[in-house]
Amino acid sequence: MTNEKPEKKKKVREDEIASPKGMRDLIGKEYHAYQGFFEKAADIAGYYGFRPIETPILEREPVFTSSLGVGTDIRDKEMYTLKTKGGDHLVMRPEGTAGIMRAYIEHGMQAQPQPVMFYNYGPYFRHENPQRGRLREFRQFGLEILGTPKSIADALAIRTMTLILDEAGFKNLTVEINSIGDKTCRGGYLRALTGYYKKHLSELCPDCHERLKTNPLRLLDCKNAKCQDLKIDAPTSISSLCNDCRHHFKEVIEYLEAMNISYRINNNLVRGLDYYTRTVFEVVDNTVETSESGEVVPPLSLGGGGRYDYLAKALGSKKDIPAVGCAIGVDRVIMSPTHKTLDPRILKKPKVYFIQLGSEAKLKSFTIIETLRKAHVPIAQSLSKDGLAQQLAIAERSGAPYTIIFGQKEALDDTVIARNMETRSQETVKLSDLPDFVKHLKDELR
Ligand code: AMP
Repeated sequence: MTNEKPEKKKKVREDEIASPKGMRDLIGKEYHAYQGFFEKAADIAGYYGFRPIETPILEREPVFTSSLGVGTDIRDKEMYTLKTKGGDHLVMRPEGTAGIMRAYIEHGMQAQPQPVMFYNYGPYFRHENPQRGRLREFRQFGLEILGTPKSIADALAIRTMTLILDEAGFKNLTVEINSIGDKTCRGGYLRALTGYYKKHLSELCPDCHERLKTNPLRLLDCKNAKCQDLKIDAPTSISSLCNDCRHHFKEVIEYLEAMNISYRINNNLVRGLDYYTRTVFEVVDNTVETSESGEVVPPLSLGGGGRYDYLAKALGSKKDIPAVGCAIGVDRVIMSPTHKTLDPRILKKPKVYFIQLGSEAKLKSFTIIETLRKAHVPIAQSLSKDGLAQQLAIAERSGAPYTIIFGQKEALDDTVIARNMETRSQETVKLSDLPDFVKHLKDELR
């Protein structure tokens, strides 16, 4: 026998099991709002030729480390990486494009008619500081067009994204757009940009000192107040574009104009990630939002994207695969006061409230509920309740136009009582006649 006392089970504290910082539960109405948005977005994307894809939430680390680029926050600071017991290094996807390009290459989609067009949606993970419009687990709806260098693909991605946002209530959008060139002209531009910033070293914030060495394009992305004035006279990427890139950009703009999409050329828009080439864009809502204290809140980008012609090679493809894509930040859409809630298909207003009384009736309830489901009559019920008055009160509150009451007597007689909640009239219906009765009910309530 040992004298060791059995280990006392430690009681877990509430804060120890609270949902992780920057991640949250979606419940009820909010869940439906997300679902409604995803359904509408998928529906629109389908009309424009996009097909669904779902890639794993975990990818092998090099999918992101070799594609996003050194000196980008997502890669250097924000990835949730983990090592499995088997020794694999995996990453919780911080963005969708690299995984989709990985899937395209892995499944040999080059052999299919080009371009291959995908929509996808789901959660993404970035270890950022949670704040307005910034979560650690957030949801995106993405569109990708792989296998074409044509400018109309850029326009198609932008058009589909703005249409989706329009349907979700955003009627006052602007597309901020820029071109950051390709391998022919990017080098010259980066030399001009670093040359300019080197002349102003003493005016740069510490982060920009680093950016100058690792990812000079991101100098234009800096949010530090100290660096804002410097951007004004910085050389623009558009002024360095080679002929092909200039022509491509001009065509994209022409498409936007032809489609009456409001746009603004933003010379400071670079979108950080290494894989972008040529067109980069973001969509902002121009509706002025004010805080509780009455201050104007700067608009957040609702979505963004760009062309990524060299990503495929970074992921091991022998050939470049020209492609363009974008993603909508769905949390920002749902949380915006401009957002119009879209009802998902799974959300059905109950037409019938089902009430049961007594054990015999409870047992047979499932058969009746199934009859109603098969007849596509949305119902509400509270099988766990027993009393008539209590259930009638809930039925009243539910707003269902009909109640079906299934009591002891009805359970023995194989009948139900159907009660019109408006007129209070009631009739007895045989269980065998129930499918016909609800069919007629459905027509009446249409
Ligand atoms: P990105 O993948 O960075 O190009 O972002 C595309 C869109 O996703 C942005 O315009 C935002 O609307 C949204 N987004 C990006 N990061 C976050 C985040 N941490 N929390 C919520 N939404 C985000």
